[in-house]
Amino acid sequence: MLNPEVNLRRALDRSALLEPAAIRHAAEALEDTVRLHRRSLHRHPELGFEVYATAAYIESVLDRLGIPHRRVAGTGIVAAIEGAGPRCIGIRADMDALPVPEAPGRDGYRSEIPGRSHACGHDGHVAVLLGVAELLVTAGELPGTVSLYFQPAEEGPGGAAPMVAAGAIDDPAVEAVMALHVTNTLPAGVVGLRAGPSTGSDDSFRIVVHGSGGHAAHPDAAVDPIPIAAGIVAALQQVVTREIDPVQPVVLTFGTIAGGTRHNVIATSVELCGTFRTLHAHNRELLRRRIPEVVRALAAAHRAAADVVIEHGYSPGANDPWLTELITESARAVLGREQVVHRPDPSLGGEDFYEFGATGLPVSMFLLGIANPTIGIGAPTHSPNFDIDEAGLPAGVAVFVEAARRFLTA
Ligand SMILES: [Zn+2]
Ligand SMILES: [Zn+2]
Repeated sequence: MLNPEVNLRRALDRSALLEPAAIRHAAEALEDTVRLHRRSLHRHPELGFEVYATAAYIESVLDRLGIPHRRVAGTGIVAAIEGAGPRCIGIRADMDALPVPEAPGRDGYRSEIPGRSHACGHDGHVAVLLGVAELLVTAGELPGTVSLYFQPAEEGPGGAAPMVAAGAIDDPAVEAVMALHVTNTLPAGVVGLRAGPSTGSDDSFRIVVHGSGGHAAHPDAAVDPIPIAAGIVAALQQVVTREIDPVQPVVLTFGTIAGGTRHNVIATSVELCGTFRTLHAHNRELLRRRIPEVVRALAAAHRAAADVVIEHGYSPGANDPWLTELITESARAVLGREQVVHRPDPSLGGEDFYEFGATGLPVSMFLLGIANPTIGIGAPTHSPNFDIDEAGLPAGVAVFVEAARRFLTA
């Protein structure tokens, strides 16, 4: 195998670096380095804000590259590569993993922590951003400043808002922020973009139906919460289909139902947990109001009581049209038009990246394909079988660098 650093140096022609072809070439030369980063991170998945080893790994790479960095919001990292011009753009990578046990396989890069894995591909996001950092410092003088954000807790409770609150986007003062998310829905190295609405709100709820226990043979002497819980599952789906404009996307999913101890005992309570996602603020408000109303009324109708707690999640995310167009053109320039596709529809997945734009800053996130059925990679994110064809990652490096170059010289 070629030494990645020698490979990169060979690929770089400093005078020509700021051309798309040279950027693509340099990004491809970083493939081995990016794969190494991804696999190192993949072996040590960490959760939430507790991404200590991940942050230490990132800091060691930044130190090696001579890039100054600081901590924000605990384990968040801001690193700035300063250049000559006045403009400044940010790029964000989330760094946390999931409590998802990894399926067998992955020779040489299995998760070493039982019950946890990088099933959302954030190890790939960090690897790409470290590749961007290496390409930018090796490129010589930049036409402006690029700020790198390594963000914890995307899977919850949310690390973007605390990083923004801690001044991540103020020092240096960035004018826009980009991000990517890997996806199994596109072939490795293909980029998908859409301007406008991109991700949904993701509030969650916890319902407890309180009955009174008793003997299974004598329901008349008890209040059975299980049929009430079943009625709640159906009634809330009916709110979605009957009270919301059907051309406006909304999804409500129950993730857990728990209650009872034995086949011949009437349960005393049942707990139901779930999530609802919307693109429109008025639908989000409607569900926040109607879920407790319907649940309490249904429980009361059957002589029971119910508690409902709604936890507010991330807000819907939208991609700034101008910035998205700039990234689209950058991707076409470095990858070729056939490698860049329009995403026709938003997702109702939640994503806290858009908190970087909460104060009005233009933000845009694109999807980077990592699927490759010929080597068995294509499972969805959050599944135990999720994996990344790392050959697709240099495309992300190239798109970020070209988009940053265009932004800084626009
Ligand atoms: Zn995820
Ligand atoms: Zn994710």
